[in-house]
Amino acid sequence: MTVHEACLALAGNVPGYAVIDRIPEDTFSAKSGPLSGIPFAVKNNICIKDFRLTCGSKLLENYISPYTATAIKQLMDAGAIPVCTANLDEFGMGSTGEYSAFGIVENPAAPGFCTGGSSSGCAALVASGCVPLAMASDTGGSARLPAAHCGVLGLKPTYGAYSRFGLTAYASSLEQIGIISSDISLMRKAHRCLCTDKDPLDATHRGLPAHSASFHFANQKIAILTDGTDRLDSSVSAALLSAQETMKHLGASFCSCTFERGHLISPAYYVIACAEASANLARFTGLLTGSAHNDSEYTDWERLYSANRALLGKEVQKRIALGAYVLREGAYEKYYLRALQYRKMLTAWFERLFQDCALLLLPVSSTPAPGISEKHADSLFHYHEDQWTACANLAGLPAVSVPWGKDSLGRPVAIQLIAPAEHDEDLLDAAEKLLEARKK
Ligand code: GLN
Repeated sequence: MTVHEACLALAGNVPGYAVIDRIPEDTFSAKSGPLSGIPFAVKNNICIKDFRLTCGSKLLENYISPYTATAIKQLMDAGAIPVCTANLDEFGMGSTGEYSAFGIVENPAAPGFCTGGSSSGCAALVASGCVPLAMASDTGGSARLPAAHCGVLGLKPTYGAYSRFGLTAYASSLEQIGIISSDISLMRKAHRCLCTDKDPLDATHRGLPAHSASFHFANQKIAILTDGTDRLDSSVSAALLSAQETMKHLGASFCSCTFERGHLISPAYYVIACAEASANLARFTGLLTGSAHNDSEYTDWERLYSANRALLGKEVQKRIALGAYVLREGAYEKYYLRALQYRKMLTAWFERLFQDCALLLLPVSSTPAPGISEKHADSLFHYHEDQWTACANLAGLPAVSVPWGKDSLGRPVAIQLIAPAEHDEDLLDAAEKLLEARKK
């Protein structure tokens, strides 16, 4: 797809509320490189200089990015061109695409159902064919879940593989920029452009060692997660079984496993994510970023601050309050330290698992996309569901969601693979081989 075609698609074909701002066609000129002329969308929590960075929030509605994120520069240096910024659940907090101040994003692959979040706009734009590639972010599953609900691919790399400079921080120790794409070889090309060159602007960025041999399923042992299988929708269980059959056909063997104290994954994730969010979002007072309320309206700082912070959505306010609570004296040991301890335990569990197995096969979610507003009031349902994806973020591991058919209502269904740290290329090889074998 050319940039011109993407712009035409954006003019006529955009799923409702997926786009925050279009980037005029003549803004950037294409360089030559491995991604020459490839159009892409950018989740609106990633900076592009001189364009709005709303993070899906009223508080940042008119804020303009002062610089461009390293990852976006890397893609542009490789020849790709950003064509629009994409809607998201406010500050990346959410699992359905319903928590943006700028509208609920429509799922082009399953009309009437959620897109999944928080990278709702990116997934919808890729699934509708407006762009073949999008830069998303993944703190606890936000690239993989919407990709799964929209029937496209979603990748979270190893922690530290890509630079986070210019990604608005929600929970810094968990998140990475992620890739959503309709095409596995394009996803790999983008991945390779993003994991080179250590970025001096991001102390956590390490890149990835050069890749040598490619991954084959023959003689590999694949771990199959059996946690919570009784809670899975029959379409998800069927997809996992079918993927396992395909792997078997390609020569893999299997072992089953259960997470160590898996019921603690989402509580640990939410304690850590909210604690980090309460610190990271403290900077958004509206004073430096501009907002609906400004200092000429108010004479006293506290009232101005409160008026601006009230522009944050309820979910964001709830998480900031929860994060501040778990960091306070008394609660810190009881919740925050225990969450960190569990994180260590889970990371060690993965290390032991990968001594014997090459990959872990598991669901992305228990069900395909829920209906819009169906679970809106039940944030605990979504918090609990995040265990399938947030486990990889807690342990810093690479993970990919791969579309694997549709259910009887026509909703996309997906499977997920997790690999050992720095084995991102193996993960992409495995996804590619599975998709090829499935086509035959
Ligand atoms: N649903 C998770 C959350 O709300 C994940 C979000 C993300 O990955 N940005 O925290």
